[in-house]
Order: sequence, then C-alpha cells, then structure tokens
Amino acid sequence: RERAFEILASVHDRDDNRLGVEAMELLDAYGIPTPEGAIVDSPERAAEVAEGIDGDVVMKIVSPDILHKSDIGGVAVGVSDADAADTYEDLITRARNYQPDATLLGVQVQEMVDLDDGVETIVGMNRDPQFGPLLMFGLGGIFVEVMEDTTFRVAPVSEPEAREMTEEIRSAPLLRGARGRDPVDIDAVIETIGRLSQLVTDFPAILELDINPLVALPDDDGSNAAAVDVRLTVD
Ligand code: ADP
Ligand code: MG
Repeated sequence: RERAFEILASVHDRDDNRLGVEAMELLDAYGIPTPEGAIVDSPERAAEVAEGIDGDVVMKIVSPDILHKSDIGGVAVGVSDADAADTYEDLITRARNYQPDATLLGVQVQEMVDLDDGVETIVGMNRDPQFGPLLMFGLGGIFVEVMEDTTFRVAPVSEPEAREMTEEIRSAPLLRGARGRDPVDIDAVIETIGRLSQLVTDFPAILELDINPLVALPDDDGSNAAAVDVRLTVD
C-alpha cells in the first residue's frame, strides 16, 4: 500500500494524469499478477530485456495518447529475442506515422502469456456519481464491445460477491472449461477482483481503471491469471 501511495504521488506531480510505466507497478504493489517485463527506450535495451525473459515476448508501444495500441499496429506478439531490436524500431515508426505529435514513453517488452489455454477477461472500475466506485467484470480482449458480457458491483466487494460476478456473466461456462478445454483458475480471478476493489477503495484518486485483458489461466499452482494490459486515469 505504501508503494502504491508513492507511485500515485509521483504521477500526481506530473502534468499528465495517465500512468505509463507505473501502471503495472501499481497492480504489482497490490499483489495482482502481472507478466514479467519492462519499458525500454532503445532497441538495444529491448533486446536485452527480451533475452532476460524466457521464450518469445510481446512488445507494445507506451503512450498516453494511444489508447488502443493494437488498432495502430502497436502490439507485436510472439517476438523472438533476435527480432526485438527491429520490432522496437517498427513500433516507434508506426506510432509516429499514426500520430506525429504523440508522446511516446517507450516500448513495453513483456513475457508472452499462453492465450490458447487462457480466457481473456476484463476487470475494471469507473466512479459513478451516484453509486461510487463501480467494479466491472466480463469477457475481455477484443470481444468486450461485441459481446457486452459484463457485470457490475459497487466496491468494496466481498469474496462471495466477487465470485458471483464470475458466475453470472453469460460466458461463465468458458471459464469453467467448455468444449474439452481446461477450466481456468477462477479463484485467481476472484482474488484479482478483490485486490482491485481494495486498491480503488484505498485510493479515491484513481478515477478509472481497466485491466483488459486479465488473462485467466488453467490451474497449475503457478500464477494463474495475468494482467497484461492496464489503463488508468488518476485525479
Ligand atoms: P490494446 O488493448 O491497447 O490494444 P493490449 O496490451 O491489450 O493492447 O494487447 C492487445 C491484445 O494482444 C490483447 O488483448 C491480447 O490478446 C494480446 N496480448 C497483449 N499482451 C499479451 C501478452 N503479454 N501475452 C499474450 N498476448 C498478449
Ligand atoms: Mg487491452
């Protein structure tokens, strides 16, 4: 919590109120599982970080001005260590072409999560003038808008309430393992909803927050969920 406080204070001191580098750290400070990774500002560093991470990586442009990174070709998945430096240049070029005056904070190099076995979910919070902090849970990734399969609760939520959220969306059978797929670790998802609830309750300055996707992964006693993308606005 102290760590989260420091992170938010440092953002408050800047003029833009969107977090770049700090967003993942904030989740991490609240025990929400995030993939290994770092934000780099050179092709050389991109290669170094990629080499330090097992397997292929995912690389993404980091900019407060680019909200939907994949829409502009700002996300590269399955990048080998050897390609990391070139991919860095590609991502920067694409972002520059898309919006020449965009502030580019760098490129995020991230451990690649196995989406074949996982389910992309969304966990978010919006402050409603009437109800206060509204937590949202639903099917995530590119399907959010299409499916509109979400459910809401006012934070803070209890564990049973968080569990209900995971049970009442239409896609709930996907989480339980439909069509011969392994069920995902629902408890890891519930835990994440609870921790996010705590975070936004502790910090009213967080106006809006979306983890999309939170990848729910099959039970394997490891880290069974991964917040691979987070966007937030602070006061
Ligand atoms: P944006 O939402 O801004 O387009 P994301 O970081 O959410 O950017 O990436 C878009 C999509 O790329 C995700 O929904 C997911 O399908 C895939 N993706 C992103 N990061 C990872 C990762 N670390 N491992 C595997 N797939 C990823
Ligand atoms: Mg996203």
